[in-house]
Amino acid sequence: MIDKIQKAKLILKTTFGYDEFRPLQMDVIENVLKKKDTLVIMPTGGGKSICYQIPALLFEGLTIVVSPLISLMEDQVRQLEALGIEALMLNSSLSPEKYKNNVKRIKENKISLLYLAPETLLMERTLSLLATQNVDYFTIDEAHCISEWGHDFRPEYRQLVALRNRFPQSVCLALTATATQRVQQDIRTSLQFEESASFIASFNRENLYLEIKQKKQAAEQTLQFLDKFPRQSGIIYCLSRKQVDEMTIFLEEEGYSVKPYHAGLSAEERQQNQASFIKDDTQIMVATIAFGMGINKPNVRFILHFDLPNNIESYYQQIGRAGRDGLRADCLFLFSYGDIQRIKYFIRQKTQNEQVIASSQLNALIGYAENDDCRRIPLLQYFGEKVQTKNCGMCDNCLEESSETIDLTIPAQQFLSCMKHSGEIFGAGHIIDILRGSKSQKILKFSHNNLSTYGIGMALSKQQWFYLSRQLLQKGLLEQDMNHGSLKLTSRAWDVLRGDQSFSAKMEVQQKKTTRTEVKQDYDSSLFESLRQLRKSVADESNVPPYVIFPDKTLIEMSTYYPQSENALLQLHGVGSVKCSKYGQPFIDEITRYAQEHQFEEKSKQTTRTISAKKSKRIGKPRHQVIGEKYNDGVSVNDLISEFNIQTGTVINHLFIYSTEGNPLRDGDEFLKMLSLSDASLEAAMVAFQEHGTSVLRPIFKSLSGKVSYDELQIIRLHLISKASSSE
Ligand code: ADP
Ligand code: ZN
Repeated sequence: MIDKIQKAKLILKTTFGYDEFRPLQMDVIENVLKKKDTLVIMPTGGGKSICYQIPALLFEGLTIVVSPLISLMEDQVRQLEALGIEALMLNSSLSPEKYKNNVKRIKENKISLLYLAPETLLMERTLSLLATQNVDYFTIDEAHCISEWGHDFRPEYRQLVALRNRFPQSVCLALTATATQRVQQDIRTSLQFEESASFIASFNRENLYLEIKQKKQAAEQTLQFLDKFPRQSGIIYCLSRKQVDEMTIFLEEEGYSVKPYHAGLSAEERQQNQASFIKDDTQIMVATIAFGMGINKPNVRFILHFDLPNNIESYYQQIGRAGRDGLRADCLFLFSYGDIQRIKYFIRQKTQNEQVIASSQLNALIGYAENDDCRRIPLLQYFGEKVQTKNCGMCDNCLEESSETIDLTIPAQQFLSCMKHSGEIFGAGHIIDILRGSKSQKILKFSHNNLSTYGIGMALSKQQWFYLSRQLLQKGLLEQDMNHGSLKLTSRAWDVLRGDQSFSAKMEVQQKKTTRTEVKQDYDSSLFESLRQLRKSVADESNVPPYVIFPDKTLIEMSTYYPQSENALLQLHGVGSVKCSKYGQPFIDEITRYAQEHQFEEKSKQTTRTISAKKSKRIGKPRHQVIGEKYNDGVSVNDLISEFNIQTGTVINHLFIYSTEGNPLRDGDEFLKMLSLSDASLEAAMVAFQEHGTSVLRPIFKSLSGKVSYDELQIIRLHLISKASSSE
């Protein structure tokens, strides 16, 4: 056993290129190796694949992986092939020849992992093929599909138990990201797990920055958010197909690379748009909730909820699609009371029973948005998990400087007392009607106009009262009856009613003034950019998504350590031996060229790590700094172009970045000479810059109706900046 554990660690490093196991991965692997049935619950991005793939490489026989979607299988097989692992799939998407060839390879015992759709697996011809094989291990991916209580029930999954009887010696590992108890229990019983172990990871995704803003000028807010992620992938979720189409057109007109995804498009179009997103050909996907399941793209850097998600669970799933690679990703939710009214209207069209469920889900979502503590508290509470720290440092509430809560003891007492007098059998709406002296039928019917609290609450608006009632719920003074929606007092409410405790909260959701915590870049961003382009062309040649070649994190490490040999490359995250020999050379060449040009030396990952723990000083300067300093020393732009063998636009870009870091620029007369513009256009551009400033080009470009290109505007901007800094 110990031997096997050593081997597992070795495989992690040499095949996958990772230094350490993530929490629970090793425990799961050990349990499976002991041939004990195992259930793994891990959030998206938690690292489930390693849990089943490493045992597959340690067992002698064939490992079967059941997966519900062809796109997921394709993705996994592609990634395993890139790692040099023999894997293939059998499903209805294969041509007859390919299918036959795959069967042949299985019979020749050449395969470690076989991916199957459940319906393919349960076909007699597959079962008899497997009967000739040594199958000692089954993996059921997306195992929640087995449960009618899950969100993607697949009836064929229910029949998988037949396998247990067919292959009684084989061990079974089931994996899912669905956290509810009911689904977990369902999985264990359906698969007839006896004496099994469950491993449940934390659902706290620490690398996701969570932010909620009141939706005000939605279009402007969207553009501002997108401006933070140039060239980076992200998803915008909208409620309706129509909204998706409108948003797509709007962003196209703004010059973004964007594609729509919703159930109204043909299957082919959806497939194409998804593929284009995965290959980094399209930057932004605008989608309804139909999008996401079945994509494994690890470098989604932002999620924007333009509309209200259905409930907390789907919100969590959607934001979970960001940052699978463990690097920071931003999730912004634009929250609007108008949207809530619309949803409430739809809810009222449902049956009584559905209304109760839908309303309580909506209230949980509103509670999440209005809560003024750490965003992670209500989110994780929903999954039955406690947040360990008081300040997560990765949500708007935790980063907000001070939160101005006000004393609301008196209105709280009024509300609670009104509830008590009306018998704790009504919902918030009715209580508010009493407090605000409404003359509705219902009030008169119950003679609530005779209560002492009738009409005492005119000082607050209806909306403010609703907000207060949700705060009372959120902070545990009220409980809502799940069946009737009526509110009940808790013991904490009595403390406030009696005057033993005060109650304070914020009265309105305020526009958060938080600034985004800028992620410090400790790597060479211009090397990163050229490696990113190199990766894209290598990926296109091999017809795989860029992340299959190397994840972003590997490129970041390359741009930090400048590795110039295979040995150095092997030290990096995500570089195993096969990947290194398959794809390493062009990257080594590019890094070597770059490092020579700038006289940067290779750094060892091991030693730099300890230095960086003590706050490292970077050895190599970033390129924009080198170029900026040379320019200020008097080197002309033309000379910079030839010295660094780069294009005019790149020099201009480096100089601009250099100036945004607070460095003045030498007054140069050369910029305007680079332009081939008419005097009138130049004049118009200058006026536009005067009006809009130099920080963002978009409004200037638009005001000139495209007469002056972005490239030209960049040059003019630099001219203005250099003039301004020399006159300071
Ligand atoms: P899940 O299937 O749970 O959504 P994956 O198995 O796709 O998650 O893993 C998510 C990401 O985490 C992958 O991109 C993988 O590179 C990375 N990863 C997994 N395990 C490790 C590890 N031990 N060390 C470093 N990175 C890891
Ligand atoms: Zn927080």
